[in-house]
Amino acid sequence: MQNFEFHNPTRVIFGVGQIASLAKHIPSDARVLMLYGGGSIKTNGTYDEVRAALAGHTVLEFAGIEPNPKYETLMQAVELIHREKIDFLLAVGGGSVVDGTKFVAAAAAYDGDAWDILKIGGKVIKAALPFGAVLTLPATGSEMNSASVISRAETQEKRAFMSPHVYPRFSVLDPAKTLTLPLRQVGNGVVDAFVHTTEQYLTYPANAPVQDRFAEGLLQTLVELGPQVLARPDDVEVRANIMWSATMALNGLIGVGVPQDWATHMIGHELTALFGLDHAQTLAIVLPGILQIRREAKRGKLLQYAERVWGLKNGTEDERIDAAIGNTRAFFEQMGVPTRLSGYGLGPEAIDATVAAVEAAGLTGLGEHRDITPADVRKALQLSL
Ligand code: NAP
Ligand code: FE
Repeated sequence: MQNFEFHNPTRVIFGVGQIASLAKHIPSDARVLMLYGGGSIKTNGTYDEVRAALAGHTVLEFAGIEPNPKYETLMQAVELIHREKIDFLLAVGGGSVVDGTKFVAAAAAYDGDAWDILKIGGKVIKAALPFGAVLTLPATGSEMNSASVISRAETQEKRAFMSPHVYPRFSVLDPAKTLTLPLRQVGNGVVDAFVHTTEQYLTYPANAPVQDRFAEGLLQTLVELGPQVLARPDDVEVRANIMWSATMALNGLIGVGVPQDWATHMIGHELTALFGLDHAQTLAIVLPGILQIRREAKRGKLLQYAERVWGLKNGTEDERIDAAIGNTRAFFEQMGVPTRLSGYGLGPEAIDATVAAVEAAGLTGLGEHRDITPADVRKALQLSL
């Protein structure tokens, strides 16, 4: 196991009805800005519950944070914060709203050009406004991590940053709030959480059995509960366990002490920036191909994955690896997330454009060995035509 330091300061307030306790987690004299997306929180009652819980607070609003949140939109929130002397933010929505709020929190406290945060990276952040979150879509882990992914429409870029200043102070996770999710977003969430786990697990062995078994537990849980949530969408217990799985998949815990890959995410971001695909759709396209082209470098962990997650014990090593990758693809398809470019009306020209974008972004050494080249990216994507 590698050396590590682990500190996660986010308070998690989990369970049905927990939004009612919001007020005690926000200073009573705060000027609060509530940020949200395109309106799902209004139709499913979350908005009213939050407003009722914060009846004693001064609360302003910023609506319209889009999926794959845009820099251009978020800078309008930064202006509002300065104009209205806001000192606490509350994100209410999915990963896009939480990510967007992280950027706004950092940008509002940043003196230079806010795009530096994405261009140079989160290390330019020296302070951020405090914020909390009410999560309505289990997928990203953003509710309990220090990462954020922001898109710039003008330049078709999608960039990530991380900073210890942008952990949420708290996150309310009410699984009942996820009951209104369209099935497409349910499937997306399961796939995103699954791939977060594989990015930190399917690398090379690091003598870290605790981390391995945390990761395998999450993968097994998602494989078991994914079909259940589709069959019984009203089952709050299933929703609760999926929600907690997604948080645990990317709150830092399973990633400490082990190598991390993230090539699938980095390539996926370019696919979203170019073609507007949902985040998880891009991961479903990229991961099977990456596992195929990296099967030698990942051999030991792929065999372990085959046996422990998919129960594959028979056949040659290569047969087991092929079956595990095939099962992964079939699971994503079962969750309603197509794994082929053709499933989104894209063909070989999309591969050319993605490889060019990967090169332009300087992503020339991806993966846990930092050796995946744009030519490898082409090979991986060709396996998902
Ligand atoms: P999302 O983009 O936040 O939301 C997708 C859609 O779901 C939106 O249209 C939203 O509608 C709707 N929605 C959310 N909650 C709902 C509910 N309870 N009922 C009905 N509709 C609901 O999806 P996401 O998958 O959570 O976030 C994706 C973003 O996170 C991407 O930009 C991705 O790159 C990023 N990401 C971040 C991390 C990280 O560590 N920070 C990790 C992975 C991915 P409204 O807009 O109307 O609310
Ligand atoms: Fe993700």
